[in-house]
Amino acid sequence: MFDEKAFKNFMLDGILTEEEYNFISNRTKMVDENACDILQYVGCFSRPINSNKITDFRLLVPVIKDLKSMLVNIHEYTHAVLLYRHIYYGLKLDETEIIPIENEKKYLKKINRFK
Ligand SMILES: [Zn+2]
Repeated sequence: MFDEKAFKNFMLDGILTEEEYNFISNRTKMVDENACDILQYVGCFSRPINSNKITDFRLLVPVIKDLKSMLVNIHEYTHAVLLYRHIYYGLKLDETEIIPIENEKKYLKKINRFK
């Protein structure tokens, strides 16, 4: 139930396109660690570092194998797609946590653990 295929299906269902998914995947390193243990290291990191002209990004996320790692991936991929659309379509960059958390809730709702 919690694996990359389920993750991709969820993300392609209205959150991002296949092209965006592949673009982000190519910039993502997955680490096989307990998601809770590495929460302080994972993230979506814009590049160049400390620049206000972002041209690229990298992701560090846990391998998907449980609910927590699934939610972390949904959260970070959402940050990444917002960055992607900022870089390639010139959309204003939304750096708040609102949309990533909304997508986590959308997933929880989908699997009926959130009412
Ligand atoms: Zn976040």
